[in-house]
Amino acid sequence: DRVITSDATQFDEPFEETLRPDTLGSYIGQAQIKENLSIFIQAAKLREESLDHVLLYGPPGLGKTTLANVIANEMGVQIRMTSGPAIERPGDLAAIVSALEPGDVLFIDEIHRLNRAIEEVLYPAMEDFCLDIVVGKGPTAKSIRLDLPPFTLVGATTRAGSLSAPLRDRFGVLSRLEYYDELALTEIVRRSSRLFGAEIEDRAAVEIARRSRGTPRIANRLLKRVRDYAQVRGDGRITEALAIEALELLQVDRRGLDHIDHKLVRAMAERFRGGPVGLDTLAASVGEESATLEEVYEPYLLQIGFIQRTPRGRILTPLAYDHLGIPVPE
Ligand code: ATP
Repeated sequence: DRVITSDATQFDEPFEETLRPDTLGSYIGQAQIKENLSIFIQAAKLREESLDHVLLYGPPGLGKTTLANVIANEMGVQIRMTSGPAIERPGDLAAIVSALEPGDVLFIDEIHRLNRAIEEVLYPAMEDFCLDIVVGKGPTAKSIRLDLPPFTLVGATTRAGSLSAPLRDRFGVLSRLEYYDELALTEIVRRSSRLFGAEIEDRAAVEIARRSRGTPRIANRLLKRVRDYAQVRGDGRITEALAIEALELLQVDRRGLDHIDHKLVRAMAERFRGGPVGLDTLAASVGEESATLEEVYEPYLLQIGFIQRTPRGRILTPLAYDHLGIPVPE
């Protein structure tokens, strides 16, 4: 239930939809990806061909689903959305792809979770726009080939490394989404405020951006909470002072750390003199599972350079001491 989680929660979905940019022009940040895509899209349109298959990878909440929609919109085609775990049998995939119109985008979220049997069916679909389907069982079974309209597969994954090599190789465009800098996030916050119809001071937008852990999803979620606060405690205008008060109430500090991050960083500083400390020892000392620590709590602290991994265990860096206002031990 952390307000700074980068995964989507059930509360995010309805308003995230309304905040999605739908053109490359309104999609903020990720300059290099946008420039490349805009060239590929224009070229495909000039040649009147479908766009090459695109793989988008990177941490949750950075805008992969949004970008897939942007691609379809810029190509002027429909998008059909599904996910790796939702396609259980080859027939499920056949039903989806055979209903596509020429040039359409098929978006498969969590594509690393497709099972092998489905991947095998996907290869010829991606390469030659055809499906080899086995009909019947036993000795009378036969394989029939079904032609498909040309389409663009847009795959999204948080784990490009878990994708099998043959699948990865069939994407013409591979784009890694990066965390957003403060400037881009500030622009996202200002754009979302406009869409919410809420007036926001520039410095309030910066405060929210700075605490959003490089992630638009978190920026939008924090903005929504701050907007509520400004409505109840003020006159609806999001001022810097109200934003800071609201964010403090939410216990999200100036680097986007919450009480759990603080507990972890303090434990390292106070109980282990900044490390090195092993993952299991650290997890036990804060009452968490090692896997949760490694997959959920630690990545952001590693990313902002508060923690480093060494062969002898985790260590706290001077940046973290500085942030907590604790002197670095001798
Ligand atoms: P997940 O993999 O968890 O589904 P995702 O990477 O697909 O996440 P999205 O759902 O596309 O993320 O984006 C989350 C929210 O952030 C959306 O509300 C979207 O409007 C906003 N957002 C993402 N990227 C941008 C951007 N570049 N500009 C403006 N808003 C963005």
